[in-house]
Amino acid sequence: MRKKIIGIILLVLIVFGGYKLFANVSANNVNSKSIQFSYDDITEYKGDNPYVYVNDNKPYFTGSEIKNERYLKYGPLDSLKRGTSAIACINYDSMPVEDDKKGDSDSIHPTGWNNATYEEIGGACQVRTQIIPWCFGGSDTDKKNYITASPYMTDNMNVYVVKIARYLEETSNHVMYRVTPVFNKEELMCRGVLMEAYSVEDNGEGICFNVFLYNVQPGLDYIYSTGESKYTGRFIDVAVKADDVSNDYDYILNNRSMLIHKHDCENALRIGTKNKIYSYADESELIQVGYRWAECCKQ
Ligand SMILES: [Zn+2]
Repeated sequence: MRKKIIGIILLVLIVFGGYKLFANVSANNVNSKSIQFSYDDITEYKGDNPYVYVNDNKPYFTGSEIKNERYLKYGPLDSLKRGTSAIACINYDSMPVEDDKKGDSDSIHPTGWNNATYEEIGGACQVRTQIIPWCFGGSDTDKKNYITASPYMTDNMNVYVVKIARYLEETSNHVMYRVTPVFNKEELMCRGVLMEAYSVEDNGEGICFNVFLYNVQPGLDYIYSTGESKYTGRFIDVAVKADDVSNDYDYILNNRSMLIHKHDCENALRIGTKNKIYSYADESELIQVGYRWAECCKQ
């Protein structure tokens, strides 16, 4: 039963690229009492790491926010109608069961929505991304739960989401989870998201992180005030990047060829950022949703 549910989550995350799945700085301050963080604290994106650690990777949850029972709270849209910080205490029961169907979010246009298609990056340059993902009980129809994100940031958020889902599957513990879109001044497309998580019953032994993910797309520049974009042709040196991403993932997937590589496969380093997924899933689940081993990694 548990396996099947994870299978569904993987389907949604991987096959649909998380594009339909898935906090506030007014002036420069995050709209949550416990977060001591602003966009000014973040070093500019250098074209390599998709994220940086914040506060030594320790989340900002306060004692009163940390609970061992489920809850979920969206921040209100701000005066510019932008999505703000959402917090949740989740456990295994927060995750959808097989019969749950996702609603249609196509009519939701978060601020900064100015989508365009670029052949060079393999498709659309923006996705509507959920602040609390559907697979953790987040709403698929509530505007307060959406931001305009790059496919690249969404994929990198999903790496963490799958890691937490895996933990929830293996324990009966709760995980505190908060995502805060970080805007620069009055801009309509966020510069990134602050993602925090903390496993409650084991005091962060299983899950504990605090990262800022950049809302960028290799090959493109965004104009964050409007969400417009232009092609630059500047892509990441993926070999450099791979050293730093989520050190403990199990596999690297190519979601175009649907091939599985081991985490240290040299060929996998050359997979384009658009098609590369760092995965914590079990081999059997990946095969269940249509993946197969790449020749170079077959045993
Ligand atoms: Zn390989």
